[in-house]
Amino acid sequence: MPKTKYIFITGGVLSSLGKGIASASIGLLLKQRGFGVTIIKLDPYINIDPGTMSPHQHGEVYVTDDGAETDLDLGHYERFLGVPTTRYNSASAGQAYFEVITRERKGGYLGKTVQVIPHITDEIKRRMTLFDKQYDFVIIEIGGTVGDIESLPFLESVRQICLEKGARNTLNIHLTYVPYVRSAGELKTKPTQHSAKVLMENGIRPDILLCRTEQRLNKEIRSKIALFCNVEEDSVIEALDVETIYEVPIFYSRRNLDDIILRKMNVRSPESKPDYPLNMENWSKFVQRIKNPKHDVTVGLVGKYMQTQDSYKSIVEAFIHAGAINNARVNIKWINSEEVTRENVAEMLQELNGVLIAPGFGNRGIEGKIEAIKYVRENNIPFFGICLGMQCAVIEFTRSICGIADANSSEFKKTKNSVVDLLPNQRQIVDKGGTMRLGAYPCILKKDTLIHQLYGRELISERHRHRYEVNNAYRQILEEKGMVLSGLSPDSTLVETIELPGHPFFVGAQFHPELQSRAVTGHPIFIGFIKAALQNKCAK
Ligand code: GLN
Repeated sequence: MPKTKYIFITGGVLSSLGKGIASASIGLLLKQRGFGVTIIKLDPYINIDPGTMSPHQHGEVYVTDDGAETDLDLGHYERFLGVPTTRYNSASAGQAYFEVITRERKGGYLGKTVQVIPHITDEIKRRMTLFDKQYDFVIIEIGGTVGDIESLPFLESVRQICLEKGARNTLNIHLTYVPYVRSAGELKTKPTQHSAKVLMENGIRPDILLCRTEQRLNKEIRSKIALFCNVEEDSVIEALDVETIYEVPIFYSRRNLDDIILRKMNVRSPESKPDYPLNMENWSKFVQRIKNPKHDVTVGLVGKYMQTQDSYKSIVEAFIHAGAINNARVNIKWINSEEVTRENVAEMLQELNGVLIAPGFGNRGIEGKIEAIKYVRENNIPFFGICLGMQCAVIEFTRSICGIADANSSEFKKTKNSVVDLLPNQRQIVDKGGTMRLGAYPCILKKDTLIHQLYGRELISERHRHRYEVNNAYRQILEEKGMVLSGLSPDSTLVETIELPGHPFFVGAQFHPELQSRAVTGHPIFIGFIKAALQNKCAK
């Protein structure tokens, strides 16, 4: 049983400095040294989870195998470490408060006054230590920026764990920003000093500073930061901007970050390293392929959350993985489905080598998605529809090929022909949070289909996040007219994937394959889609 060591990652100065990538990169470096590692994300907001938040606000909702709707940073953890996370890898302030208040209502505090300290902090600590003795390292990323009011109970919990477990078993890494002020021609260390000071005011002494910067930090600047922030000089590490997030672990490893962590925590690497596809050598080759690919393709991503590209984070990353595996750069043309019409669809899509129709909710932009699908179906452009994208493909096919003009999904419009509909169990649901079909479900792929060929096996497991399903009453006509229902639930009651034989690549999935695409190894459908897009380009 390992004695678990805890690494806390906090952020200062600004948000969006990339704490998630930093945490995932440190996790990867430790994993490559042979340690067992997991990462937890703690979010200071009051929502129970991001499931009910708009993608514009929060970016993508990442779903785990066990059906939790979580923060998109869990996606980075999985993509970098190559192992699935669970609902216990993320927690919000809302969850901690909910737990404590529920216990209070049941009389669980025996007459005591319930307070932020110790009750909320105890609950946060419980969640931080859930994986104790299961891993060598638990990395805990604290969302938000130090100095935020919401972060306080989390920082207090970190302080207490550091005190309880001792300096050798805990480490604080603080991610800050060192801006370059052009008018002065200088890098400025003051924001970092202030941020470290806030941390220390909360009883946390940073052990390592990762300094995001656009310019190199020379020795002089590093010693100044070290002195004022009370950190050893070799532990002030510059984190320069890099071309791709997948280069970050390589960058940190060149600056000996893993050695410094192990030294400070007094740990030696295990003798034998595990046989692991994400080893340093494969990882470096993968990064080289991302940076210098031989080919390039352009695919359209048709969706409706265009202002925040984080809304489709896992899809974008899955394209990067599949691109590297096909030795191609994947250029994404972002297409707002609300702007696609019958009149302009050809102009918008004809130059593309492939089109992906994104997941989504609600009826805005649906008709544009359906026009786009009709165009790529008729013009042999590779098509990949995810969740809502697959549902739209079924609607389009029912209208155009089965001759049922009013076919629709009951999510968008009441018609006699709801070819996509709610199952009875979903009709009774009132609450919005956590009530969709969520998490991993098995699916059986039919032999001699494209999708079976892509996966190379019959039984797969993929993650879901939706309420609506293909209506079984229409399965017969869809099949008669040539749509292959290529993947079904094991009891055959749910259509999970569709395809059109005779088309170069026309695949729809009710699940979200992008959630399982990982660095180095990618995902079979994305790999196949990009391969088809390359072939489409060559044929043009
Ligand atoms: N809105 C659709 C449903 O609930 C699709 C959801 C999605 O694309 N994730 O079934």
